[in-house]
Amino acid sequence: MKILITAGPTREAIDPVRFISNRSSGRMGYALAAAFLRREDHVLLISGPTTIDIPDHADFIPVESADDMYRAVEKVINEYDIAIFCAAVADYTIAQPETHKIKKDAETLTLQLIKTKDILGSARDPFNFRGTLVGFAAETHDVEQYAKGKLQKKKCDLIIANDVSQEGIGFDSSENEVRIVSEFETIKIPKQSKENLGHILAEIIADHHRARQE
Ligand code: C5P
Repeated sequence: MKILITAGPTREAIDPVRFISNRSSGRMGYALAAAFLRREDHVLLISGPTTIDIPDHADFIPVESADDMYRAVEKVINEYDIAIFCAAVADYTIAQPETHKIKKDAETLTLQLIKTKDILGSARDPFNFRGTLVGFAAETHDVEQYAKGKLQKKKCDLIIANDVSQEGIGFDSSENEVRIVSEFETIKIPKQSKENLGHILAEIIADHHRARQE
C-alpha cells in the first residue's frame, strides 16, 4: 500500500532569521513511517523541520511553512491509498513577513497573524481524496467528544486523539497514550513508546483500510 504521512512542526517566517513554531518533535509521524516501512508498505513522509533521521527507504519531502506543506500534500495526495496527518501545522502565520531582519529599535512590536489553510480539512474537498484519511487531535479536555466532532467535520475515517494536558505523553515526549476514534467505536491504547505505538497504529489503520475496501 502507498501511505502519505505528514509530520513535525511548521515554521512561519517573521523575517529572514525569525519564525513562529511549536513543540512538535515529529517522533509520532516518523515512528508511524518506520512501522509502515517494516510492513513493506511504500511511505512518503512530508515533514517540517525535525532532528530525527529520515527512516530508510521512505520517500521524503522536507517543508518549512504550513503553506509549503499544503502545496506538497495537494500535489501528491491522490497517488496514495492512505493519508495520515500527524503534523502539528501552525494555525496562524505572519500576514506579511519582512524581507529584511527587523531591527530592535521599537519598544513594542505587533505582528499580525492570519489563519493558515487546514490541510486535513482540505483532503476530501477540494483535494478530492477518496482513500483512507486519518487525522490526529491534541486536546486538553473532552478529548473523545472533540475527536468525534473532528472526525465528522474533516470527513476522516479515524482520528487518533491524545490528551496533551497529561505530563509525559504527547507533544515533545517519547511516549504517548491515545484513543482511536472511528464512526463506530473508540479504542484506548495504553501509554507506551511512540515506536511501539507506531506499530499498533499501523496495523489498526491498515486493517481499517482493508475493511473499507470490502
Ligand atoms: O483542527 P485541528 O488543528 O485540531 O486538527 C488537527 C489535525 O489536523 C491533525 O491531524 C493535523 O495534522 C491537521 N491539521 C492540518 N492542517 C492544519 C491544521 C491541522 O492538516 N492547518
